[in-house]
Amino acid sequence: MDPGLRFWMSYVDARGGLTERSGDSTLVVLPPAVAGEFDLPDEFMVTDEPDVAREDGAVLLATGHPVLIQAADSALSHGDVGVVTLAPPTTPAPDSPQLEQRVRDQVQVEHGKIDVTGLPTRVDRPVLRLGALVTYSLSADEHYQERLECWIDAGSGRQLAPDVVARLRAAPRAERATPARPPVLEAVSAAVGRAHAILDAAAERRRTALSGQASDAHRRERAHARDYYADVLRSLERRRASADPDRAELLSARAASTREERSRRLLEIDEKYQARHEIRPFRLHAVLVPGWRVPVDVRRGPRRYPFAFDWLAALGAFAEERCPHCGAAATLSASKNRLGCIDCLPGAGAVAATA
Ligand SMILES: [Zn+2]
Repeated sequence: MDPGLRFWMSYVDARGGLTERSGDSTLVVLPPAVAGEFDLPDEFMVTDEPDVAREDGAVLLATGHPVLIQAADSALSHGDVGVVTLAPPTTPAPDSPQLEQRVRDQVQVEHGKIDVTGLPTRVDRPVLRLGALVTYSLSADEHYQERLECWIDAGSGRQLAPDVVARLRAAPRAERATPARPPVLEAVSAAVGRAHAILDAAAERRRTALSGQASDAHRRERAHARDYYADVLRSLERRRASADPDRAELLSARAASTREERSRRLLEIDEKYQARHEIRPFRLHAVLVPGWRVPVDVRRGPRRYPFAFDWLAALGAFAEERCPHCGAAATLSASKNRLGCIDCLPGAGAVAATA
């Protein structure tokens, strides 16, 4: 099915309408308010096949149709904001020796060793999913739109890798959403700024790549303008050289105003090719990823520092954690008097480097 028509179907569904496939076309029943909004009948047939539209009188609805553009715009303005709860694990947590082995394998702690100290408890770990529509303007008449998305683990503030995102997107969702508690919403809100910065940086890179072609056109247009004004100025100069004094003065004045006009024109061309991008966020999900919080001690000699890691069943891995001392998302490190990371424990990294 045409992606535009598929989007339209799910849009109708979300707005309380009904769709029923019959052969090569689909019957659509719209609530009166929606039908009015789009200036469509309450009940009609749609198709993405031009032949079917011609023969059966169904409305040809495919990407680019004004109704789809209106629906997309309406969906974007309403936004898609909410809490998505992934289905809870169907099996119990792995046992403590297994968890201990996995956490030791996965999490590196400088100078420290991790011991599991108790039974895991069920947690839902918040992840922020931010989606945006980015409009790139490469010149006055060259625009592109693309969708960007960023997933951030709210606990650590780290961006999730594409393979992790793919697994979370594919993970089954809970039938009933858990109401998100205020700390969850706070953690997710705190990650929004970072997610936006990541999207902005990605859009900037993309814009630079896209504007490569536009800058060729920019150079050409600038060169044409320069050549044109150089010709005009040369001709004025030739005429001035052989003119009588009154006429020569007039031609000098014209040359001066031509030079001013050239500056204005070149500036106009530069503005025309000034690349910009605009980020329009349309999706903000707090995704609750079910897991087990595993209490541990990070041990260095006789010193023990209590800590915890979250085992995420959908990923079969522990979530990364922030440094409990400075909040950085760096490798943890145990010193003789506290637990920190290689960023905040002076010399910790150097010791590792020389060890
Ligand atoms: Zn630290």
